[in-house]
Amino acid sequence: MLLRNTVRGRPMRFIPSGICLLCDEPAGPIPNLCSACAGELPTLPEPCVACGASAVPHTRLCRACAIRRPPVDRTVCALAYAPPVDYLIGRMKFERDLRVVPALAGMLFRAVAEVATADWLAPVPIAPARLRERGFNQALEIARALSRSSGVRLTWAVRRRRRSDLPQSSLPDVAARRANVARAFEARAAVAGHVVIVDDVVTTGATVNALARCLKTAGACRVDVWAIARTP
Ligand SMILES: [Zn+2]
Ligand SMILES: [Zn+2]
Repeated sequence: MLLRNTVRGRPMRFIPSGICLLCDEPAGPIPNLCSACAGELPTLPEPCVACGASAVPHTRLCRACAIRRPPVDRTVCALAYAPPVDYLIGRMKFERDLRVVPALAGMLFRAVAEVATADWLAPVPIAPARLRERGFNQALEIARALSRSSGVRLTWAVRRRRRSDLPQSSLPDVAARRANVARAFEARAAVAGHVVIVDDVVTTGATVNALARCLKTAGACRVDVWAIARTP
């Protein structure tokens, strides 16, 4: 299967504007964001090491993960899904503003720089119908940028089944989201070692947990998640 890397049939190019996407000042070390805006983006304090949600103070885990560890071993989310991060992600996904990709991937690389060792990066595959509609997979574009920064290669070992599951954002709760994605992914090759799932936003974790289960069944010994943002 080919994951297309085009917008309206033309190859994508990232055009670093050198101007901050939020305030029009010159960008700083993070592409397309000035240092002031990059420094003010919201983060989650003391996140759970397993799932990235808010942890119980003075522990490393949230209540749910303390009771039952998820299949994801470690989650790092660079930012909180709150203004203006939600606006930037919407601009990337729905307005196809690809200048957002290096900006958000730069924020994510900064957040994972100390732990940026892995064998493979696995972008969350999107359903073929959604890929046709949107023209690109934002998780793949972020993973490509991270691969360039970290030197970790991409793996195509897992794909989304053709059956089109509903958009997770349309479902009301964790149970519905878990059922919706439970069989959404399948491995088409064996995979080994330490794999990192790359996604834009982690909400309930149902998608990344389903993908992590699939990767571990296919042979991965450790599965982490690196994502741009986590819902508070
Ligand atoms: Zn700015
Ligand atoms: Zn947790």
